[in-house]
Amino acid sequence: MLLTDLAFPSAWQNQAARAAQALLDHDSYLVAAHVRLDGDALSSLLAMALFLEQKNKRFALFAPFGLPDNYDFVSLPVPVYRTLSALPFEPRTLVALDCGVRGRLGEELSRIMDDLSCINIDHHPGPGMGTITSFIAPEAASTTQLLASVLRAANASFTPDVANALALGLVTDTGGFRHANATPEVFALAAFLESRGACVHKLRERLEKNWTVGRLKLWGYMSERVELEQDGRLAMCALPLDCLEKYGCKSEDTEGFVEHMREVRSVMVSCFVREQNLDVCKFSLRSVEDVDVNAIATSLGGGGHRNAAGGTLVMSLDRARELLRRSICQSLGWSAKS
Ligand code: 5GP
Ligand code: MN
Repeated sequence: MLLTDLAFPSAWQNQAARAAQALLDHDSYLVAAHVRLDGDALSSLLAMALFLEQKNKRFALFAPFGLPDNYDFVSLPVPVYRTLSALPFEPRTLVALDCGVRGRLGEELSRIMDDLSCINIDHHPGPGMGTITSFIAPEAASTTQLLASVLRAANASFTPDVANALALGLVTDTGGFRHANATPEVFALAAFLESRGACVHKLRERLEKNWTVGRLKLWGYMSERVELEQDGRLAMCALPLDCLEKYGCKSEDTEGFVEHMREVRSVMVSCFVREQNLDVCKFSLRSVEDVDVNAIATSLGGGGHRNAAGGTLVMSLDRARELLRRSICQSLGWSAKS
């Protein structure tokens, strides 16, 4: 089998071709992904921007919360608009990437979305929100994996910048090729992109070698505060807001800590909850193998995947921690008292 047969699966060919044709047929695009961009959302915006530039399309990128600090090595070819009122032209078509549900595009955009036609490309499960076309494939590791097939169908040029953008989403959404979604197709696409000038080891170095001393100290503090319960099967950590300030950290500096807790041998579920604002807490859950934390997060108004899920709780940090603890134990049939 040829490498490209694996990298660009035939199962996606028709949907990718339809999305490619739609992108070539229309113009005046607003390109957006889910709010609070992660690596895949950001690199999907970047890859789409590079593609639309190649095709001489008019477009604007929209990200209401701006660009994440921990991806400051990523440079976009055009400015990113944080409000729709600042756009230099009236967009006609929305390209919605990696956004799951409509609400995750942010309040401002989801309010006016019905006035725009929409091309939707995503690996989150759902019916799709494209009024022109939807290319939804939950089996894909990242949205950039799908974009690779779309760009190929549109005869785009896989320049080193395009290849790096697509590779970044693959790297981040597979946890550096460690999660179960790192399939033969993913490795084949990574190899293809590497052959076109992407450099996965440099991307990983930039992603991973970016710690501040404050972050190191914060992780020390959080590690001290991890509570192990249920004979070590449950690891919990609750972080008050003022601790971030104390160590000169931002909320992004806590990213990865919930996975770090899960690395403890005995741990089956790790739970990290941090105070985001007064009486607003953000929680993250991680689990091993067939332990389903998505069900727990969903029951608390959040969502995600079986082994990685999260959500927001509008209550004090102490109450949020107790609610999470009880919900986890109840769902897994563990006694909440031990
Ligand atoms: P994290 O814990 O890294 O923020 O998110 C883990 C997973 O849960 C991701 O797939 C993310 O999309 C999902 N997730 C996190 N917060 C929410 C939420 O508030 N609602 C929904 N539906 N999913 C969430
Ligand atoms: Mn994604």
